[in-house]
Amino acid sequence: RAKTDGRNTYRFFEASMGTAIRERRMLEHDLRLAIARNELRLVYQPQKGVRSQAMTGFEALLRWKHPARGDISPAVFIPIAEESGSILEIGDWVIQAACREAASWEQPLTVAVNVSAVQLYNPDFVQQLHQTLLDTGLSPKRLEIEITETALVRDFNRALTTLRLVKALGVRIAMDDFGTGYSSLSNLRAFPFDKIKIDGSFIRSVNSNSQAATIVRAVLGLGRGLGLPVLAEGVETDAELQFLRDEACDEVQGYLLGRPAAINNFRHLTHREMVVDDAPEAAPAPRA
Ligand code: C2E
Ligand code: MG
Ligand code: MG
Ligand code: MG
Repeated sequence: RAKTDGRNTYRFFEASMGTAIRERRMLEHDLRLAIARNELRLVYQPQKGVRSQAMTGFEALLRWKHPARGDISPAVFIPIAEESGSILEIGDWVIQAACREAASWEQPLTVAVNVSAVQLYNPDFVQQLHQTLLDTGLSPKRLEIEITETALVRDFNRALTTLRLVKALGVRIAMDDFGTGYSSLSNLRAFPFDKIKIDGSFIRSVNSNSQAATIVRAVLGLGRGLGLPVLAEGVETDAELQFLRDEACDEVQGYLLGRPAAINNFRHLTHREMVVDDAPEAAPAPRA
């Protein structure tokens, strides 16, 4: 009986594995066509200074609308694109689209773009980045690439060489998801980072979990000590924002400040307010 059960379990396992593999192959295949089929688009999420309350820039986040499945999360399709290699073409598309978009803004805001390890180790990466800046005319200092620590471990020397070249272009570099990966304090010093982004998972428990609060304070102290501004990701509540303000965090990003959305929703931020000189004067407010 036990034997039969085991076999059934195995058969079930085998069948669902088969489905998972077929499913993955299908997504892999469809992803290769996604650019040509116009299924990819970028949404933008505002980043704000804590002290100044001023907008500093936007993070560009990739979205894929599958013709049959609808929206698929980047947490699902980015790993598939990385394994199948299509991330190179997709990543290049992302950088071009984000730079073209940012170059059209009237306000000199930063655009932050996520760059995966596969892109970072592509020998053409820096050259392509440079070409995109030339093609779009975006000032390099307005582009920030976000790299996770996990991307560094594959080959520290190559990662370092590449990031130094990126930095030499004048592009800024942020360490993304700090605290979740192979966090090593020496990475922060060895690599030419311009910013630390604390992962949202720490922020979300900052008011309920004293360990999370301790970790956030420690990262903020680290940033101060190293002269690196710290941005907190995933800020959802006023209480979290208050905590970060009290602890002198530099920048924030999260649903509280704005959800990722099509850039059209942010035109009032990316474009100058229209100054109409000959507009009729507003009627004086009635006196109380
Ligand atoms: P990430 O770079 O750490 O981006 C932050 C993620 O947190 C985004 O998820 C964003 O929508 C989400 N988020 C922002 N504010 C909040 C909040 O207040 N609460 C919560 N719960 N979540 C918040 P998204 O867009 O699903 O992206 C997931 C991950 O996929 C990104 O994490 C990034 O690693 C990757 N990704 C997205 N776009 C790209 C891309 O163009 N290229 C590459 N290589 N990776 C990308
Ligand atoms: Mg990011
Ligand atoms: Mg992140
Ligand atoms: Mg992440």
